[in-house]
Amino acid sequence: RAKMEGRGTWRFFEPAMDASLQRRRAIELDLREAMSKDEFSLFYQPLYDLHLDRICGFEALLRWHHPKRGLVPPDQFIPIAEEIGLIGPLGEWVLHRACEQAVGWPSEMKLAVNVSAVQFRDPDFIDVVVNALEASKLSPRRLELEITESVFLANSNETLATLHKLKAQGLRIALDDFGTGYSSLSYLRSFPFDKLKIDKSFVRDATATHGSKSIVRAVISLGRSLGMTTIAEGIETVEQLDHMRAEGCNEAQGFLFSHPVPVTEVAAKILELRNGFKPPAVKKAMAG
Ligand code: C2E
Ligand code: MG
Ligand code: MG
Ligand code: MG
Repeated sequence: RAKMEGRGTWRFFEPAMDASLQRRRAIELDLREAMSKDEFSLFYQPLYDLHLDRICGFEALLRWHHPKRGLVPPDQFIPIAEEIGLIGPLGEWVLHRACEQAVGWPSEMKLAVNVSAVQFRDPDFIDVVVNALEASKLSPRRLELEITESVFLANSNETLATLHKLKAQGLRIALDDFGTGYSSLSYLRSFPFDKLKIDKSFVRDATATHGSKSIVRAVISLGRSLGMTTIAEGIETVEQLDHMRAEGCNEAQGFLFSHPVPVTEVAAKILELRNGFKPPAVKKAMAG
């Protein structure tokens, strides 16, 4: 089949379509049906309070169980869902499901939910959040919405207005993957975020390279002086944990504490991490 392109040039389309594009098309078709087929679920990864030295909540992470492809990671389908207009209903499902599941956890457990920039720009977004809170009876104080710097690429007046309306509901806003975005720091001045999530790329290098170490130190100090808490994501080693603690970071999250787990394992994680965290080596020594 040939496809007419702009400027009147003809090109053979399907034969030239490479494997990755075909895969994308296939995922797109399946994605349109995945919600009605109930193929999504939420996994939860513990958030750890470094001062209280105990678990303080969970981040909800979307999973797609594809009947043939198995588990498809969110990075592979969320951008597609954004493009084909599915992120609205999908994001709404995530908010409702996460709030319903978290309302039964001990009340000191926060719930962090990721929000895509496209979803955030939807004029109905605030209503969606309010409805999810009302339907679940989850206290807004327990909800933390994670947005990325990409929301600031759009009209910043509207973005700020939306952020203020959300905050007025009593929930908190965290800036995810902080330091990897394209924007300037000026939005930090214009909007009082509650939390900065230091991107895992800086965390990974903070114990190795001088540059990353300096960035981490600067972000924590910036957060502190602006009245925002800081969380380090992607903590995989005891060395990284000790470093973040020593730097005064408030919270930590990563495979060292726990991989994201299905909701059925949330209660066990709370029991495991509510009286502190024993690094694997110490655990082994205690068991032996
Ligand atoms: P994110 O919000 O920055 O989430 C953190 C990602 O890092 C998660 O990947 C998590 O599994 C992974 N991670 C956690 N600890 C470690 C660690 O110690 N080392 C390493 N290397 N990785 C770690 P995941 O679950 O694949 O999610 C990827 C991204 O997809 C998320 O990044 C978020 O941007 C997006 N996402 C996930 N769930 C949702 C959702 O419900 N809605 C939207 N809009 N986006 C979502
Ligand atoms: Mg996140
Ligand atoms: Mg992140
Ligand atoms: Mg990320």
